[in-house]
Amino acid sequence: MRSSRKYQREVPALNTERLMGYTHREIGTDGLEYKVHQIRSGQKVYLCPGCNGTISIGESHVVAWTEEGWFGAEAGARDRRHWHSGCWNARGRRR
Ligand SMILES: [Zn+2]
Repeated sequence: MRSSRKYQREVPALNTERLMGYTHREIGTDGLEYKVHQIRSGQKVYLCPGCNGTISIGESHVVAWTEEGWFGAEAGARDRRHWHSGCWNARGRRR
C-alpha cells in the first residue's frame, strides 16, 4: 500500500506575510491593529492620506492596512494606503 502522506506538508496560514518581509503590526489611534509594510522603493506615484501630497517613484514609504475593520480582512487589505513614513509616524499627533 502506497502512502501519499509524505507529500503532505503543513502550509503556513499566512503566506503573504512571509513574502512581505518587513511587515510589522502596530495599534492605530483608532484602537485597531494595523499591518505596516516598509517599501524600500515605490513603483508608482501614490497619494499620501496624511498630507495629501504625492509619494514619488523610488521613494521609500510605508503601506498600512487593518484586518480588523468592519468589512473584514480582505476589504481592509484592499483598502490599504501608502503613506510617507513620516506622515504615518506623525498621524497620531494630528487632530
Ligand atoms: Zn505625506
